[in-house]
This record gives sequence, C-alpha cells and structure tokens, in this order.
Amino acid sequence: MRRQTSSQEHKAEHHCIGHKEGDWIIFICPVCKDYQRQINCVTKQVTVRQGNSNAVHIGSHAPVITTMDNFSIN
Ligand SMILES: [Zn+2]
Repeated sequence: MRRQTSSQEHKAEHHCIGHKEGDWIIFICPVCKDYQRQINCVTKQVTVRQGNSNAVHIGSHAPVITTMDNFSIN
C-alpha cells in the first residue's frame, strides 16, 4: 500500500480574516495563501477562489467587520 504524504487528508479549520474594500468584503486565510472569498455587501454576490486547500474555512459568513481597529496581531 502506498500512502500519500499530503497533509490535506485532515479537514482542518481555518479562521479567515476579513477586510472591506469598497462594496466588497474580502476574506483571506492566513494559512492558505491561495484561498480568497469575496462577498459583495450590496448584491450579496459571493466569489470564492479555493486554491489548493481542502480545509474548512470559518468566518466566511461572518457579519461585516466595521472596525478594523479591533484587530491586533500579537
Ligand atoms: Zn485555509
């Protein structure tokens, strides 16, 4: 039996970080550089770029983040 050494076997949970650009809220994953989800505030249109990740991304349906000032990276 041959086992893949890929670490994508486990469904990890990644917490996305959202920021607002115009009418769009853009969520990016700090782990998956390829992953990006964009939500239009006005039309509710959602655009997802999954990249190579199979992880479950949390925060993609979070309410609009109004104050970026609350973010602090320690
Ligand atoms: Zn991710």
